[in-house]
Amino acid sequence: MTREQFRPPDHENDHFLLTTVVGSYPKPTWLHRARELYEDEHSEFDDEEFQEAKDDASRLITREHERAGVDVLVDGEMRRNEMTEYFAERISGYEFNGPVKVWGHNYFNKPSVVDEVGYDEEWLVSEYEFTADVASGPVKVPITGPYTLARCTADVPDDVRLGLHVCYGDYSRIYPEILQFPVDEFDVELCNGDYEQLDVFTEPPFTKDLGLGVVDAHDANVEPVQEIKRNIKRGLEVVPPERLTVSPDCGLKLLPREVAYEKMANLVTAAREVEAELDSGAVDIGAPQVTAD
Ligand SMILES: [Zn+2]
Repeated sequence: MTREQFRPPDHENDHFLLTTVVGSYPKPTWLHRARELYEDEHSEFDDEEFQEAKDDASRLITREHERAGVDVLVDGEMRRNEMTEYFAERISGYEFNGPVKVWGHNYFNKPSVVDEVGYDEEWLVSEYEFTADVASGPVKVPITGPYTLARCTADVPDDVRLGLHVCYGDYSRIYPEILQFPVDEFDVELCNGDYEQLDVFTEPPFTKDLGLGVVDAHDANVEPVQEIKRNIKRGLEVVPPERLTVSPDCGLKLLPREVAYEKMANLVTAAREVEAELDSGAVDIGAPQVTAD
């Protein structure tokens, strides 16, 4: 499936670096309050009211991504309490093992697979339709984990683009084997490690589209546009521009909301500036070029 489908009709440059976000985004404070009320047995805040709050938050955050200029929009996972829990609660074959500390003072209820996994809810479809209805541009729906992905790929139509985000780790342990996965794009977290592992993806040559993290999801300092441009250009050492997607390193949900927004806005500005430099021939493309012969 071509990436050109995501190019906005009014895109100003010939080159097009697709910009997107990984998934999660900071929730509005009032949504946390709404969940507290909903989970409080003494409150009268009911299902319908909580549903309305989640719908409103999804609209708000989808538009916030749009305002930052991001090409492929998501609702920032406003409906999900935590990425793994959300899916494990909806997929049979999982068992919850109690809270595990993940980062700072955040906890999640860790699930394990104890039986063959399966699902019978079409929750992703309604989430997709809701976001698509709110957004004026293309949207995506984040799916967590390889189990889910493995189940989903069986009935994905041809015109759906699949991307897999792989969180920070020793990528040399999964490369080049991951190139066999039935996805169009791999999104990796390399900004946080200052691109030390970039070379992993050049030998053997990377054959998928590359989703490159160009702002750090664990650093509350907003990277200046110049720095993000340098990071984007590192991606061009691995793939040519038509196969490069730029995104934050990971979900931004643990950052203050205004910091997350500024990171996205700077990311978009940096991408558009690199495109203009590519158009004018000012940027050298280091990645191996695919030739016609
Ligand atoms: Zn990640």
